[in-house]
Amino acid sequence: MSSTSVIEKLKRTHNEVGTKSSDKFPPSHRVDQSNGEHDTTISLEDEHGRIEHEGQQWRKESPYRIPTDEEKRDAKYTGECNCGRIRLFLSRDTPVASKFCHCTDCQSLHGAPLQWAAIFHKSDLHFEEGAKGLAFYHSEKKHTRHELPTKVSCAFCHAPIMDEGRNMVLMFPAIVKFPSEEAKKAFYPSMHIFYSKRVVDIPDGKTKWSGMDEKSEQLDLP
Ligand SMILES: [Zn+2]
Ligand SMILES: [Zn+2]
Repeated sequence: MSSTSVIEKLKRTHNEVGTKSSDKFPPSHRVDQSNGEHDTTISLEDEHGRIEHEGQQWRKESPYRIPTDEEKRDAKYTGECNCGRIRLFLSRDTPVASKFCHCTDCQSLHGAPLQWAAIFHKSDLHFEEGAKGLAFYHSEKKHTRHELPTKVSCAFCHAPIMDEGRNMVLMFPAIVKFPSEEAKKAFYPSMHIFYSKRVVDIPDGKTKWSGMDEKSEQLDLP
């Protein structure tokens, strides 16, 4: 059956139940559109042929706005995803904080026993090509639109890049190209969080929180 005849048939069905003949989608599709799960991005070309993303102000703000040449010159560290399509740099040489997270969400999303995250201000992290090539995932609502907090990965190789919160980013130092072991040490975590969910003991003398730091029990463990 051709698609035209399917639409004609649906239109006739609509007419029979009193729906306007101008509606071109079956009722099931309309319900689907109204549940908020569809990407409502509208891309428009401006007079220079550039793509404008209507209603996507976040693309123009840190960490997604295109970095300036001066910012590129002042880069402290660079990093890239596994396939190299996503290239980023940091404009601050030490993270605000760094943690190992043992929660089950991190375990399942990273395919690893724990996650290593370094916290930066959004303005400290820059993507060379802005939001191009990035994929997003909201783990609570299970959708892939950009809504905070969101998990950010490379849309091609799927390497996890960072978690973006409302004010800060938790980037994954595993993708940073450290020039020396000394530089890497500045990124070493000062604590473990969600340690009660651990699959491996790490007796490194760092603070162990059963859940979120400062909001859960501090465990008396090496
Ligand atoms: Zn990649
Ligand atoms: Zn976690």
